Amino acid sequence: MRERSLPLEHYIDVVKEILRRKRTRPVMIDKEGYVETGLEVFNGLEAIGTRLIPVAEDESELSVEVPIEQLGFYDNVIGDSTRVYTDLLELLERDVPTPLLRIKNLSSNTVTVWAKLEWYHPLSLSIKDRIAWYMVKRAREYGLLQAERIYEATSTNTGLGIVGIANYLGLKTRVYLPITAQHCVDYLFKALGSEVVRVPTQLTVEAVKKVIEDAKRDNAYTLNQFENDNNFIVHLKYTAKEIGYQLRKMGRRPRAIVSGLGTSGHISALAVYFKSMYGDVKVYGVQPSKDSFIPGLRRVETGMKWLGYADLDGVTDVSLEEAFNTVIHLARKEGLLIGLSGGAAVYAAKKLIEAGAIDGDVVIVIPDHGMKYIELFEYLIEKCVEEP
Ligand code: PLP
Repeated sequence: MRERSLPLEHYIDVVKEILRRKRTRPVMIDKEGYVETGLEVFNGLEAIGTRLIPVAEDESELSVEVPIEQLGFYDNVIGDSTRVYTDLLELLERDVPTPLLRIKNLSSNTVTVWAKLEWYHPLSLSIKDRIAWYMVKRAREYGLLQAERIYEATSTNTGLGIVGIANYLGLKTRVYLPITAQHCVDYLFKALGSEVVRVPTQLTVEAVKKVIEDAKRDNAYTLNQFENDNNFIVHLKYTAKEIGYQLRKMGRRPRAIVSGLGTSGHISALAVYFKSMYGDVKVYGVQPSKDSFIPGLRRVETGMKWLGYADLDGVTDVSLEEAFNTVIHLARKEGLLIGLSGGAAVYAAKKLIEAGAIDGDVVIVIPDHGMKYIELFEYLIEKCVEEP
């Protein structure tokens, strides 16, 4: 079957409908193998990642619905326990799911808190390997990646993922880092052989525009994580489905999801997935409080492409100090040294639980590890309120 791709906004409602009903209509294909009827359904099934696509022989079969589980809906998130891979791209695709860990100190009789540990990815040691891999994969499949160089604006993690993949494919890279990225990050990128440009601001719309202009001028390709729908789709197809599958295996389902807002890719996909699947799941975003900064996170008013699909139940403001104190608390009580955006999400979840806004099975996405932020820790440890 051959593929024609529609913009996400043309089929997002079909995605929600398929997830809500857990069933799909088939598509019809023409003699050349292109989808003739049901292109939205085809794109929707591709986005949620069924292994099979049902095909109708004639019009009378177009209304016969098929349960998505019969189409291998969960197949792509069930890894292989031997974990042997002969190719880096295969490792990135198939080494799933990442762990889901119950957080003892946040759980009680009424709440079970689950942390999705996203530093279990090989290149950026963060959730961003997922989007780097999928954006590059789709660009190659569509013949869009003809250039020999990739330029990308990144707060660090997406860049590390893209540079790793580009190196593997023999492509050159240039990353544009915001003023807020730690100084040591330059050396990571230089070690990987990437060119580094420091932007004198945060990654604003203007800063990203400038990257696109530079790429055009230099005949380079830019994946642009802020606008690329594959950022949203990969979290629908993997991150969200993994969490759903892991909980289902334990006979559970999420009642609430709490996570940070950067591009909005992962939280929007999780919201679409779980609200469509279960209806009554609460989803809360987390942003840095005004005049604060938390690596990887941005405030909603900076503009986020997929948030309109998400129907969030709320957005919680967290300061850098609150995020850091939570990181330290968790490290000393739970043994996990998580990153600052994860700390912000845990802080927000704690507040929501204390306020009685959420209960039952609560999932918090932890995008990366604390080891990434040693330079910031040096400054923050002075302000730490947690007793050793
Ligand atoms: N946390 C960290 C450490 C990140 O690097 C990012 C994104 O760059 C996020 C959270 C936010 O994720 P998203 O872009 O999917 O909203």
